[in-house]
Amino acid sequence: MAETIFTKIINKEIPADIVYEDDWCLAFRDINPRAPVHILIIPKKAMAQLNDAESGDRELLGHIMLAVNRVAEKEGVADAYRLVLNNGAGAGQEIFHMHFHLLAGRPFSWPPG
Ligand code: 5GP
Repeated sequence: MAETIFTKIINKEIPADIVYEDDWCLAFRDINPRAPVHILIIPKKAMAQLNDAESGDRELLGHIMLAVNRVAEKEGVADAYRLVLNNGAGAGQEIFHMHFHLLAGRPFSWPPG
């Protein structure tokens, strides 16, 4: 997988507002927030998009889901948040290091745009 700016954030080569970190994942505030709370949760393992995940990634993916909940609780938004994952350029993915967007703090419409 080609290195992205998120690899540099994981390696602390460029700064980010990190809100949570453990051995498997990292969460930091989006540089261009689309909601009062907009946090990106990424695996430390390089994976371009969710579609690249394999059965061996099952534990990692479950771990990330629980990390999302921990971040939401830390941010005080556990009661209402939206979790978005753009898989592929056609779905709006711009950074090809798999990541979830945790968005909260404003109303959200459905269906999403
Ligand atoms: P995507 O469109 O790939 O799903 O989302 C990429 C997200 O990464 C965008 O919301 C964008 O604002 C965010 N982003 C891009 N570059 C940086 C950066 O250098 N630092 C941080 N914190 N966020 C970034």
